[in-house]
Amino acid sequence: MDQPVELSTPTPPAEGLVWLNGEFLDFARALISVDDRGFLFGDGVYEVVRVYDGHPFALDAHMARLRQSLNAIELEVSLTNEELAAIACELIDRSRLKEAELYLQITRGVARRLHLFPVGVPPTMVMTIRPVRVVPNEFREKGIVARTFPDERWERCDVKSINLLPNVLAKERAHRAGADEAILVRDGLITEGTSSNLFLFRDDELATPRIDHRILTGVTRGLVLRIARQKGYRIVERDIRVEELQAATEVFVSSTVMELLPVIEIDDVRIGSGQPGPVFRDLYATYREAVRAKS
Ligand code: PMP
Repeated sequence: MDQPVELSTPTPPAEGLVWLNGEFLDFARALISVDDRGFLFGDGVYEVVRVYDGHPFALDAHMARLRQSLNAIELEVSLTNEELAAIACELIDRSRLKEAELYLQITRGVARRLHLFPVGVPPTMVMTIRPVRVVPNEFREKGIVARTFPDERWERCDVKSINLLPNVLAKERAHRAGADEAILVRDGLITEGTSSNLFLFRDDELATPRIDHRILTGVTRGLVLRIARQKGYRIVERDIRVEELQAATEVFVSSTVMELLPVIEIDDVRIGSGQPGPVFRDLYATYREAVRAKS
C-alpha cells in the first residue's frame, strides 16, 4: 500500500503562493490574459507589504494608500479594505512563509485593447507572497551609493501606479554606473529614490521632501517621521535642492523592503563621514523595535 498522505503537515511552497481573482494557486498556474489592461496599458495600481514573523506590517496604511490609488485612477473594486486584508492574511497563512513580501496588484481587467474604460468588466486582482529579498547586512553597516538622475515620471507620483518605466530606467542606469539607488531630481529639487523616500540630516534638522503630487506617500516615511517626532528631532518637510544633498551630514532612504538604508556617497561625493551616521542608527534601531512590537 502507498504511504498515506500526511494532510496535517503539508510541505510549505518554497516559492510562495498566489491569490488570483478569488483562487489560491501556485505561480505556475496563476495566469493572466494577454488582454489584461495592466499588461497592455499599465492600467493598474499596486502595493508591497512586508511580512515579519508571519504578520503583515502596517497593513492598514497600505490598504488605505491602495484605496487612494484606486480612487485616483477611478477604478472601482467591490471588495472592502477589510476583505482585501483578510485575503492577504489567508494568503500569508497558507504560504506558511514568515519573512516575506506580499505584492498586491489591481488592474482595470481584461478587455479588447481600447483606451476607453471597458464597461462591465471586473478588475483583475492579484496578490502574491514570496520569501523576502533580504537586504545584505553590509548595506546597512557600510551604507549604499547613489547617483542623481532627472525625474522623468508623470505628474501624479502620489499614485502607486504600475507604470514604473522611468523608475526602471533610472535604477538600471544607476546600477550600470556602480550605484545602488537613483535619486530623482525635478526642477532642481530632489523628489525620491526609484523605490524609496529620502531623508537628509544637517544642522539639527531632519528634512524630507514634502508630500504632494511629486512623491509617493511612503508608509515607511510616515513611520520614520513619527518615530523621529517622538524622539524629539526637529523635522522639516520641505523642498530640498539637489545641492543640499552633498552638503548633508547624513542621507538615508526608506522603503517597506529596504526599511532604512544609509547613503554614504552621491555622484562620487562622500556624504558626511562616509559612514552610516548616528541619526540613521538611532532611527533604524527604533524602527526595528516598532517592527518587533508588531510581529
Ligand atoms: N517611493 C517610491 C517611488 C516607491 O516605489 C516606494 C516603494 N513602494 C517608496 C517611495 C517607499 O514607499 P513605502 O515606504 O510605502 O514602501
